Amino acid sequence: MRRLGADAVEVRTPERLAGLDGLVIPGGESTTMTRLIDSAGLEPALRAHHEAGRPILGTCAGLIVCDAEHLGFIDATARRNAFGRQLQSFEADLEVIGAGEEPLRAVFIRAPWVERTGEGVEVLATWDGHPVAIREGSVLASAFHPELTDDPRFHAIFMAMITKAAEQSRANREKEGAPR
Ligand code: GLN
Repeated sequence: MRRLGADAVEVRTPERLAGLDGLVIPGGESTTMTRLIDSAGLEPALRAHHEAGRPILGTCAGLIVCDAEHLGFIDATARRNAFGRQLQSFEADLEVIGAGEEPLRAVFIRAPWVERTGEGVEVLATWDGHPVAIREGSVLASAFHPELTDDPRFHAIFMAMITKAAEQSRANREKEGAPR
């Protein structure tokens, strides 16, 4: 995100999240992350961020945390560790809508796939017949780890969503603040 010009900070508390234009919920372990969100009291701040239309990128465990069975930020259901034991970790060249012609090298680590998508969900990439990159409104999610290669194109899709949302909210504020 820094390479793309963002001023990136780590968010571990609700206070830190307030006022940020975008949020990445990274990979890790979704059960632990759900527990940490609870114990840090982060859920209301996450909901406020989402409701304000500020973009969220969920990668791998972050996708699971955003799905309909967890925070419900995206109308999709993930299946954890879906690629099975033999294929715990692998790389694949994906065609990703919005990332241009060149295939995108994607690193999967005990990754989920997306089992169900609601009507409003765009599928940006699939692997082996399963959605692995999806978007709905201000929420972008991938089953792979886009931060583990040098290719910034997936983050660039997210950066464009952030820039657009931030401009929109600035325009709205100006409209509200303008004298009649
Ligand atoms: N398997 C992990 C989970 O179910 C996700 C792995 C990852 O984020 N790389 O939460």
